[in-house]
Amino acid sequence: MFDTGEIEKQITARLSEMAKEIVAIRRDLTDTTRADVITALEVVKSASAATQAVATADLHTSRRAERAAKGLPKRQWDTGVASEIGLARHDSANKGGRHLGFARVLVDEMPHTLARLACGDLSEWRATMIVRDTFGLSRDDRALVDSELCSDPATLMGKSDSQVSATARAAVVRIDAEALVRRASKAVGDRRVTSRPAPDTMAYLSALLPVKQAVCVHATLMRDAAAIVGAGDERTKSQIMADLLVERVTGLSTATAVPVTVNVVLSDEALLGTGSEPAEVEGYGPVPTDLVIRWLHDDDAKNELRRLYANPETGALTAMESKSRGFPTGILRMTRFRDKICRTPWCGAPIRHGDHVRSVANGGDTTFDNSAGLCEACNYAKEADGWTTTPDKNQSGELHSYRITTPTGHQHRSTAPPLPMPMPVRHHRIDISSTEHAVIDILWAA
Ligand SMILES: [Zn+2]
Repeated sequence: MFDTGEIEKQITARLSEMAKEIVAIRRDLTDTTRADVITALEVVKSASAATQAVATADLHTSRRAERAAKGLPKRQWDTGVASEIGLARHDSANKGGRHLGFARVLVDEMPHTLARLACGDLSEWRATMIVRDTFGLSRDDRALVDSELCSDPATLMGKSDSQVSATARAAVVRIDAEALVRRASKAVGDRRVTSRPAPDTMAYLSALLPVKQAVCVHATLMRDAAAIVGAGDERTKSQIMADLLVERVTGLSTATAVPVTVNVVLSDEALLGTGSEPAEVEGYGPVPTDLVIRWLHDDDAKNELRRLYANPETGALTAMESKSRGFPTGILRMTRFRDKICRTPWCGAPIRHGDHVRSVANGGDTTFDNSAGLCEACNYAKEADGWTTTPDKNQSGELHSYRITTPTGHQHRSTAPPLPMPMPVRHHRIDISSTEHAVIDILWAA
């Protein structure tokens, strides 16, 4: 009899051997062989994607069966599975969920598409497009599209990304025009406004809107900006459009005088003009300290900058304790500053919850040390059956860290990012400007 544990170990060992072999392919090849290598590796990538999809769907099925057998309620069967897939792929829980959805559709509903992916006729991206474009179809209708597009390798042979997508969409319209209408009404539910950093201390504000509204907002800004340019304003039309957007959203008459609380972490050296360490703006990232100083002196804006102190050696924030079970605002604010984004490795989503690393039920304290900033999906996954998180014994001044163990027993360490390092001076409130606007509120001194 074979030891199945041994056989399973050999599978992963063999895969890493294959990866090493691929990397070690010699470089003194003829150009013909080089082109063949490039093609052969595309097949390897597609085959890997197909096997990943199958393993993903199987893990999901197995996790559900295990929880059903334990008698857990149905709504808990899927909890955390997307996060498990995300961690296994070094991706966020959100992407893990998409990988899982893709795998489920391929394995359960689109066997021909999966087969084309497995043999390298389709790339992972093209298979993803077919799955995406058939979203909203019934299982049977999806099977029809699957068969029409992928049962014969010749159908999609030589087609580009956009041609594959167009062929899939055309099949969907032919089979079920209603599905497209259903998708359109579902898409409206996804409307949202987001912001992300841009270079040179700028940021993008994006709105995903129904097409009518988006066109209307843009056209209104264009029309009104054109009128202002026509009246002799020196700004460009683009600048005026941006200013109008800010003015109308914030309800203020000039875009430059927005009252804000900017949460900034900066070192004393930087503040006194002797250090070159950048400041850290919550929700954006590092910015030059000179810019922060300029904000402080801006007469148009009432500034309140909060500063958090960090350990001068390591950049770790100092601790704070509380007796209450829910995290008080002070600890939450510190946690947000320390963690910046969701603490799960590879996640990168904004923090939504201050979470107990060791849960209160398991004797965890409501302390800064036992807190972690998590996104909604990771917070949810952490509570799922079979997941544990264990705080590390953090010494004072060390970067905060803890271990996550998934139901498969895989461990991932989460370490807080370092902060700009200030000089260890103690103050409670200092004025750094002659104007009354610039007050630095020092919350915790190292
Ligand atoms: Zn997360």
